Amino acid sequence: MSIKHFYGIVHLYVGVHLGFDEALVRICNHEPTLEDLTLLLRSTDNQLTELINQASDVRELGGREVSYSRNVFLPITNLCRNRCWYCGFRRDPGDSEAWFMSLGRVAELLERARDAACSEALFTLGERPEVHAEVGRALRELGYEMMIDYLEDLCQFTLSLGLLPHTNVGVISEREMRRLRRLNASMGLMLECAADLPAHRDSPGKDPLLRLEVIETAGKLRVPFTTGLLIGIGESFEDRALSLLSIKKIHDEYGHIQEIIIQNFVPKPNTPMANCPGPSIEELLAIVATARLLMPEMNIQVPPNLLDFKCGLETFLLAGANDLGGISSVTPDFINPDHPWPSVVELRASIERAGFVPCERLPIYPRYARNPKFMSREVRKVVQDLADENGYRRG
Ligand code: SF4
Repeated sequence: MSIKHFYGIVHLYVGVHLGFDEALVRICNHEPTLEDLTLLLRSTDNQLTELINQASDVRELGGREVSYSRNVFLPITNLCRNRCWYCGFRRDPGDSEAWFMSLGRVAELLERARDAACSEALFTLGERPEVHAEVGRALRELGYEMMIDYLEDLCQFTLSLGLLPHTNVGVISEREMRRLRRLNASMGLMLECAADLPAHRDSPGKDPLLRLEVIETAGKLRVPFTTGLLIGIGESFEDRALSLLSIKKIHDEYGHIQEIIIQNFVPKPNTPMANCPGPSIEELLAIVATARLLMPEMNIQVPPNLLDFKCGLETFLLAGANDLGGISSVTPDFINPDHPWPSVVELRASIERAGFVPCERLPIYPRYARNPKFMSREVRKVVQDLADENGYRRG
């Protein structure tokens, strides 16, 4: 190696390291640029350790609690207008595995959830399933015109059982959100990624601008809102940085985003992305830690059934995660059926083993459960019955 080449490498290394240090200082001072975030998200080895250490200090200020909620998972139909390349959930009309849940089936699961002391009814759908004639027919047979009419009745029934609906049905209009807000404790829409990706080429509802608009509408309507990133679907480090900044910008304006989910892509058989590897643990840790530093007070969720905790749950919690999402003893994870949720007992034990304090929450996070502006009268009544004085689930 020539001396010139050697000094070139040293100069490059020092430059990258200085860039990392400066980016870390700027994010801690709440003034990071897109480039800073991109650099932090690329962290590996010693830089990743440094990033996690910084995030861990910030996390400590928020306490040692790690929350989760007990839910019943109700995917009303797996028909969908989109065709995401990584999706193993969606089915075509006429497929033997396509389904539409009847009122009777939903009621039975909700009653089991009430008996199992769940607090959350998670309603999901394929997006705008009415584009398929089969769904229109099924709705008409039940006496409904549109899916939103059916959902309203399901949410109303859920509240009457003393459970709280959390609806996540893709891109909806402001009018539809207003109707659902009255009957939902919180709602959600994964941003997934703020950049256009090939994996979403056949999915009109995955236009990032549309999704950001829905998240913003939720802010205007004061809906406690869950969003998140799907990691490993072909996005770049810069796309991830842009996604985090986009969410932060909306939250800074409206203050309604109650949690950000950092979800790792898991390849599903018989999909166009079946052979794509998921993201590395290092990439996921870098995102969790960067999100924690970018939004110190945000709840950051990682899914306990999808992550390979081979580096230890503790590392993710130290990096800044403080929520492990909804888990169910009543229904499976229909989206990821090969990855069963842990039981509540297992989950609590693993949080305690990692040195943290498990806390059961409602679908609406404590900060919002204690703020009447973020709830309708109908929802508030059930929240008051279920929540303790700190806004967590009453014991
Ligand atoms: S929107 Fe959801 S259900 Fe529809 S194809 Fe995409 S991931 Fe699957």
